[in-house]
Amino acid sequence: MQAEIVTIGTELLLGEIVDTNSAWIAQRLTTIGMNLFYTVTVGDNLQRITDVLRASMGRSDVVITTGGLGPTVDDMTREAVAAAADRELVLDEELVQEIAAYFARRGYTMTDNNRRQAQLPAGATVIHNPVGTAPAFYVEQNDHVIICLPGVPHEMRYLMEHEVLPYLQQRFGLQGMIRIRILRTCGIGESAIDTRIGDLMEMSNPTVGTAAHPGQTDVRITAKAETEAEALTLIEPVERELRERLDGYVFGVDTETLADVVTTMLADAGLTLAVVETTTHGELSHQLSDGRSAAAAFAGGMTFTSAEGLARGLRLTPEAMGREYPSQAIADAAAQAARAAYGADLGLALVGPDDPARPDSPPVFYSLALADGVIQGESRQGRAGPSGMGWLVHLGLDMVRRQTMQDALPRA
Ligand code: ATP
Repeated sequence: MQAEIVTIGTELLLGEIVDTNSAWIAQRLTTIGMNLFYTVTVGDNLQRITDVLRASMGRSDVVITTGGLGPTVDDMTREAVAAAADRELVLDEELVQEIAAYFARRGYTMTDNNRRQAQLPAGATVIHNPVGTAPAFYVEQNDHVIICLPGVPHEMRYLMEHEVLPYLQQRFGLQGMIRIRILRTCGIGESAIDTRIGDLMEMSNPTVGTAAHPGQTDVRITAKAETEAEALTLIEPVERELRERLDGYVFGVDTETLADVVTTMLADAGLTLAVVETTTHGELSHQLSDGRSAAAAFAGGMTFTSAEGLARGLRLTPEAMGREYPSQAIADAAAQAARAAYGADLGLALVGPDDPARPDSPPVFYSLALADGVIQGESRQGRAGPSGMGWLVHLGLDMVRRQTMQDALPRA
C-alpha cells in the first residue's frame, strides 16, 4: 500500500510557515505499516493543485492532503479534488447545519463564506470535525482514496488519530504494524555510540539506528510485527542490550526531554533547582520551565547579557568578578548566588562569552552549587545558532541529572 502526502498553501512554499504536518503524518502512517513514497507541497493555485492531485492519484493508493479547506476564495482544495476526480461540487445541507451549530455554540453567526465549506465533490464522505469549522472529507475513486484534512495542525492530528488511521487500517486490511522505541542519550556523541552498538545496527527486525540532535543522540529501535504486543516483544531484549552498552548515557525514552527527566528526578528526590545563565538567551530556563515536573522542581532562573548585568543582578562584589570575564570563579559565585536567591537546593550557573562559536572565544563555564560545595565544568564546543545553544543547555542539564542520580545528595 502506497501513500502520498500533499500539503497545500502558498505560505508553505514561501517558507513563511514550516510544514510540520507532513512529518507528523509520515510518522503516524509508519505505525500502521503504510509506506510513504512521496510528499508534495503546492501553493494556492487551482490549476496546480488539480495537476498535483491527478498525478498523486495516478501513482498512490492513498493521498492525504492538508490545508485549503477554509471558507475563503484561496481555499481551493474542494474544487481541485472535484476537478481531479471529474466530479461536480455539491452543497451538503447536513454539513451546513453542522457548521451553523458550531458557530452558534460559540456565539457567532455563520457567514455566507462558510457555506462554501459545505460544498464537497459529489460522492464524498464527510469526516466530521468536532475541533474546528473546516469539514474534512474523503473521496474513493477506483482503488484509490483521497483524504482531505484541515491545515491547522491540532485539527489535522485529531482527525488523523480518531478517523483516518482507523479508516485506513480497516479499508486496506492493514494487519502489520510498526512500533518504534527511541532511547534518548546525552553526554556521548554519535560516533562513540556507533563504536559501542555498531553490530546491533546490522540487525533486520528490529532495526537499530541513530540520529544526532543538538546535545543529544537518539537511538531508535523499529520493530515490524502483526500486533503491538509482538512488536514490543521484539523490542524488549534489544532495548535491554542497548541500555547495558550505553550505561548512564540513556536519559529517557520516546518523547521525553532532558528537562522532563531532570525536573522529575529532582521532584522525586524533593529537591529544587535555580539557574542563572548568560550566552544561552534564557534557553536553560525556558527548557526547565517546560519540564514535566517544573512546578515542583524549578525554583526560578535569571538571564543576563553582560558581565555588568550579572554583577549587578546577583550583587557580586568586584573581588568575586575578578579581572577576567568569563571565568570559573564567576560561575561558582553566580551558582551560589542563584541558589541563595531562590532558596533552592541546587544552583546551576552557565557563564560564557556572547558568541561562543568564534574560534578565539573563551570557554563557557559551568558550576553546580550544592549545600557543601560546587561541581565545575566547561565547554569549548563552537557550534553557532540554536544548535550550539542546544549543546550548551544540555551539558548543564546533564550535570544536574548526573548529580541527582547519586543517592546521597546533600539538602539545602
Ligand atoms: P482553516 O479553515 O481552519 O484555516 P484550512 O484547511 O483552510 O483550515 P489553511 O488555511 O491552509 O487550513 O491553514 C491554516 C493554518 O494552519 C496555517 O495558517 C498554518 O498556520 C497552519 N498550517 C497549514 N498547513 C500546515 C502545514 N503543512 N504544516 C504546519 N502548519 C500548517
